[in-house]
Amino acid sequence: MATLADSPIAFETLAHPAPTPANERAARIAEPGFGTVFTDHMVSIDWDEVHGWHNAKVGPLEAIPLHPASSVLHYAQEIFEGLKAYRLDDGTMALFRPEENARRFNASAQRLAMPELPEDLFVEAVRRAVAADKDWFPPVDGGSLYIRPFMFATEHFLGVRPAKNYKFLVICSPAGNYFKSGAPAVSVWVSDYTRAAPGGTGAAKCGGNYAASLVPTKEAFALHHDQTVFLDAAEHKWIEELGGMNLFFVFDDGTMITPPLSGTILPGITRDSLITLAREEGLAVREERYSIDQWQADAASGHLVETFACGTAAVVTPVGTVAGREHNFTIGTGGPGQLTGRLKQRLVDIQRGKAADPHGWVMKLD
Ligand SMILES: *Cc1c(COP(=O)(O)O)cnc(C)c1O
Repeated sequence: MATLADSPIAFETLAHPAPTPANERAARIAEPGFGTVFTDHMVSIDWDEVHGWHNAKVGPLEAIPLHPASSVLHYAQEIFEGLKAYRLDDGTMALFRPEENARRFNASAQRLAMPELPEDLFVEAVRRAVAADKDWFPPVDGGSLYIRPFMFATEHFLGVRPAKNYKFLVICSPAGNYFKSGAPAVSVWVSDYTRAAPGGTGAAKCGGNYAASLVPTKEAFALHHDQTVFLDAAEHKWIEELGGMNLFFVFDDGTMITPPLSGTILPGITRDSLITLAREEGLAVREERYSIDQWQADAASGHLVETFACGTAAVVTPVGTVAGREHNFTIGTGGPGQLTGRLKQRLVDIQRGKAADPHGWVMKLD
């Protein structure tokens, strides 16, 4: 296991032979959307049993040669993180709680039998990636630089055991405002598939979880829904989360429920931040199981007034309608709720330096 003593390690900076010309870059970041435009650089660090973490580089974003027997291609030893760099009103670039991503990355690494990366090295790699590509910050309102740190097994070996070689990379992708004029409420499909089972990898941010969610997502899209809601594997009754976002339920009596971190849902950093902000707003937040039948009954009676999903990419997304083989209901008026909007605004204001940051969540970069 890596320790803090391994860090800091020296980073080598490789000059980019042909950076994107400024006019072309400007065209690409004008309407970046999500996940399709990439910057010029990447950070990479290698791990092996002899050297631990070594060969740290900031260099050109380029293809990675992979031996066909690389174990990630066969047994999916891969984990990732997702966070954003924001530009504050004073022009400074900032990260939001990156040490939480570092900690969660290591929790995922443990579950996938991969080496841990010292938290300060993770954060330094992210900082260096952003510094190398800060000209790629999209000039659009609500824009950000989406940062994707990830690690995968590179050993050439077809036997089944934890690999002995890994690569850690950080790449960046300019992102527009997920929803230009306020988030519209989404329609969700209650899947018969399950995303995670007790004892499985549901709490780890690993590619494998996403691979397993693609068929249910395809099914939801085919039925004209926007997202999938997953229920628990054992009873198929308790609401867990969407494929990549955590859920909150808001009631007419000032209480709010979110499913507990029981090991089958991903511990979202947005989730954690919103619990804190909601409590500051005077809401009683409970981390407690909530069933699909209760959700429908409470929506019908009016006791449930809002439901929203949250995650780094879209921040907060209202849920308007719910459908499944045995369920069909509308939440409130089916549009975005007031508390949802208020909590989102509070979080976004802190992230972008427009509001005070009493919890020390914002890490300035320059
Ligand atoms: C990343 C992720 C989330 C949201 O986590 P944030 O830290 O808030 O971005 C929720 N669910 C799943 C399955 C995820 O992979």
